[in-house]
Amino acid sequence: MWIDTHCHLDAAEFGGEQAQVQAATAAAQQGVDWIVIPAVERANFATVATLAAQLPNCTYALGIHPLYVPQAEEADLLALRTAIAGAIADPRFVAIGEIGLDFFVPGMDSGPLREKQEHFYVEQLKMARDFDLPVLLHVRRSQDILLKHLRRIKVQGGIAHAFNGSFQQAEAFIGLGFRLGFGGAMTFTRALQIRRLAVQLPLAALVLETDAPDMSPAWLHPQPNQPQQIPRIGAVLAELRGMALPDLAQATAANACAALPRLAALA
Ligand SMILES: [Zn+2]
Repeated sequence: MWIDTHCHLDAAEFGGEQAQVQAATAAAQQGVDWIVIPAVERANFATVATLAAQLPNCTYALGIHPLYVPQAEEADLLALRTAIAGAIADPRFVAIGEIGLDFFVPGMDSGPLREKQEHFYVEQLKMARDFDLPVLLHVRRSQDILLKHLRRIKVQGGIAHAFNGSFQQAEAFIGLGFRLGFGGAMTFTRALQIRRLAVQLPLAALVLETDAPDMSPAWLHPQPNQPQQIPRIGAVLAELRGMALPDLAQATAANACAALPRLAALA
């Protein structure tokens, strides 16, 4: 069993509903038994839920992505809380996400936009805490500030997606109950730091993801990524760690289930 812990299957780049169904079906044929579709803004809360309801191997998360925070309104946080309360009875609803902080995009690392990002992040962490749900974290040049709030607002953990940071930062996330998501970036031989992390971190801390349609693996770039790439991305990790592919598949799927208990209940 393979699990894609982060796939924006509702993104326009997939080219419409039929292509989205095809992408999920092609992934299932490659052994990707589960896909997690994170929301990014209030406008797609219903979209990700509907997709997950239609596709046998899809689940979803609800949240406001840091890059959608500039155009988000305070009322969207209230709408999110209402959406979570409404989704809690839905077994396909597995996490709060995608939430986090992006200090890479110019203008978002300081001033009012940074403040607004932190406000949205903190408020969404509180929702994860209140509903006892794991979170899917967007981490870009923001590891230490994300960690600062995680130490203050206790959530059950989750996944730090597309992880790229120091070994010490990785260990800090792990210590707070997080697994780290590895995907297409790891398939580039020049990605020395990510490959080093993928080898040196405990296997129990690693989960696989595509972040499709983004973060295409080396063999696909610059074509859009697809959830069916998970086994091949997994093969890169297996080779880096000197593991047999079935063992790597089994271990990363078990880690994803440990990070997402509601997904484990489905699987
Ligand atoms: Zn994402």
